Amino acid sequence: MTRAERLARPEVLAYVGLGANLGDAPQAVRDAIAALEAAPGVSLVQASSLYRSAPVDATGPDYTNAVACISTTLTAPALLRALQTIEDTAGRERPYRNAPRTLDLDLLLYGSAHIASPDLTVPHPRMGERAFVLVPLSQVAPELVDTEALQAVAGQGVERLAATD
Ligand code: AMP
Repeated sequence: MTRAERLARPEVLAYVGLGANLGDAPQAVRDAIAALEAAPGVSLVQASSLYRSAPVDATGPDYTNAVACISTTLTAPALLRALQTIEDTAGRERPYRNAPRTLDLDLLLYGSAHIASPDLTVPHPRMGERAFVLVPLSQVAPELVDTEALQAVAGQGVERLAATD
């Protein structure tokens, strides 16, 4: 992409789900939010509080989760690559599916786009079933989350962490 094309690209509002459950998980999520803010073509609009959740379909310690609203000039595939670079920098290994992870970044929403490619599905296919996504998402974008959707996942334990955790 040329510089002129890059400059001409519109800003898109996107939502990123963050999760970590190894080591100092709250710090890993805070670092990832800082890395998102520093990524070329990305500016942070708002980050949710940090939340603690029990693993879903996974093993290991509790997760720390958050959702970030960003404004980006990156295409959706380029944004996914940027997220994967941040994951890799945080030392994520993928020994097996749903293994405990240093850091997991999911592209939840990219404007109003619907994307179904081999590498990328947006909206994220499982976001509507997960309290650890819906609860922080409803904090930063209440208009995007139905009350019924929140009620449907209310049984999943998600606890907002104190600002100092
Ligand atoms: P995970 O191990 O759960 O982080 O899944 C990563 C894989 O999911 C990568 O191969 C991505 O290409 C793929 N993927 C598909 N849709 C998405 C999405 N919306 N956000 C993040 N990863 C996605």
